[in-house]
Amino acid sequence: MHDLENKVVIITGGTRGIGLETVRAFCEKGSKVILFGSKKETVDKAIETLKLEGKIVDGYYPNLNSYEEIDNVIKEINDKYGRIDVLINNAGISANSKIEDTTSDDFIKIMNLNVNAMFNMSKAVVPYMKKNKSGVILNTSSMVSIYGQPSGVGYPASKFAVNGLTKSLARELAPFNIRVNAVAPGITKTDMVSSLPKEIIEPLIKTIPLGRIGEPRDIANAFLFLASDMASYITGVILQVDGAATN
Ligand code: NAD
Repeated sequence: MHDLENKVVIITGGTRGIGLETVRAFCEKGSKVILFGSKKETVDKAIETLKLEGKIVDGYYPNLNSYEEIDNVIKEINDKYGRIDVLINNAGISANSKIEDTTSDDFIKIMNLNVNAMFNMSKAVVPYMKKNKSGVILNTSSMVSIYGQPSGVGYPASKFAVNGLTKSLARELAPFNIRVNAVAPGITKTDMVSSLPKEIIEPLIKTIPLGRIGEPRDIANAFLFLASDMASYITGVILQVDGAATN
């Protein structure tokens, strides 16, 4: 995967969990990584943590629901680095309340980050990728995009939309040599999962054929592969990385 060296890679939700580990993985391949987070403090903290590991990255915290803010930041990044090679739309929030306890605002909040922000980010980078006649957009989906989940309906609904966006943009952008794929993680050891009660997690682990929950590096490795030239003939795919949980 030497082809990832010097590639300009933007990763949203890069301050912790899957995103932070993905930032590390691309840094280790010699990519120029720019992480996005929700606020200055968490972005600064992630940059500092990575610096202590010898990894130098840039960071931004635009409002992902403001196309104007994103457009400005993407322009700034392109001016500074000269190109944008890879976008990883990873920022996301989940939910697990019953429908009666979910407000329409809760539902909108999930769709806004998990879907609308992904649209905004993709729209902003496409002109630069088209100009270079090359690019890769990768989205974080979820195993719940395969079969739903019994609560928190906004979350699986948003991830089904992520898959639709991925497959459709893959078709639209293929003529410009821009590949669009998604990774659908199973349960992965991050803050998102630590906040779930043991009664939910333990029975779930029993249903995973590989007998463990995923590590953030398992997901980061899938992003590396899909971003690299090893995946040059792969587009429009939702790659399940879940220990066969959805099989
Ligand atoms: P996490 O909660 O550890 O990290 C979420 C990231 O999203 C953080 O970097 C945070 O800064 C960012 N974020 C949250 N709200 C934001 C906002 N309003 N604006 C900008 N950024 C915001 O979660 P994670 O587990 O690492 O999840 C990352 C992705 O993986 C999400 O899309 C999630 O749906 C998906 N996923 C996670 C699991 C899992 O088990 N952990 C499983 C399947 C899919």
